[in-house]
Amino acid sequence: MSRRALHWDGLRVPFVTPWSAERLPLGRIVRRRGVGGEGIGYADEHRGDRRYGALWVRYAATPGRGEPLFPTMHPLRQRQAMAHMLCGVCGKPPAERTAWEKELLGEGHLFVMRAVEGQPIAEGEKTTSPPTCLPCAPEAVNACPRLRKGYTAAVVGYAPLWGIAGIPYHPQTLQPLPEDRVSGQPFIAVDDPLLRWTLAARTVISLHEVTTVDLDELTVGAAA
Ligand SMILES: [Zn+2]
Repeated sequence: MSRRALHWDGLRVPFVTPWSAERLPLGRIVRRRGVGGEGIGYADEHRGDRRYGALWVRYAATPGRGEPLFPTMHPLRQRQAMAHMLCGVCGKPPAERTAWEKELLGEGHLFVMRAVEGQPIAEGEKTTSPPTCLPCAPEAVNACPRLRKGYTAAVVGYAPLWGIAGIPYHPQTLQPLPEDRVSGQPFIAVDDPLLRWTLAARTVISLHEVTTVDLDELTVGAAA
C-alpha cells in the first residue's frame, strides 16, 4: 500500500482517488455457488476478488500512473481506509496520530461529510466516506466541490462494517441492473442475500457515538 503524496495540477491527490492506469477490464461474470449460496463470480476468480462475501470490481494498485479520476474512489483503497480507519486524503492510520490529534479526537475518528440540507451527521448514519485525519480536514473541504457547498463534521466513537455499495446483477441474465441515477449505487447489508448478486465497489460503515464538532474551532485549537 503506497502512501507517497501524489500531486496533479499543483493539488495533492487523495489516497482514495483512483488513477486512470488502475482501471482494469471487467472480468467475465458467471454464476457461482459458494459458501452462503449462489451469486455472481468471475470465470477466473481468485481469492482477492471476494471480501465480505461479495465479488469486488477489479482495480490495479499503481497510484500515480495516468490521470487522477476525480471525484471517484478506488474501491480497494476505499475498502482499506474503511477497514483500518485510514485518512481518505493521506492514508495515515490512527496509530500515527500526533499528540494534539490524540488529545482532540481521543479514540474517535473525524468524519467530514456533505451536509444534506444543513443536517449534521446522524447517529447510525451509513456512509462510504472514509475518515479524515485532523491536519487533512481543512484541505479535504477546500479541495472538494461537494463539501465546499456545505459540510458537517463529527467525531465518531464506533464505525463498524455495515455492508457494501455496488451494482446488482440480474440472477437470470447475469447483466448489471440499470443504475438509479438519482440515488446511485444501492447500499447492501452484509446479511442481505442480494450481496452475492452485487458487484461491490465500496465498503459501507455505520457511524455511532456521533458528536458534531465545529471543524474551524477544532483545527484552530489544534494549530494553537
Ligand atoms: Zn490525512
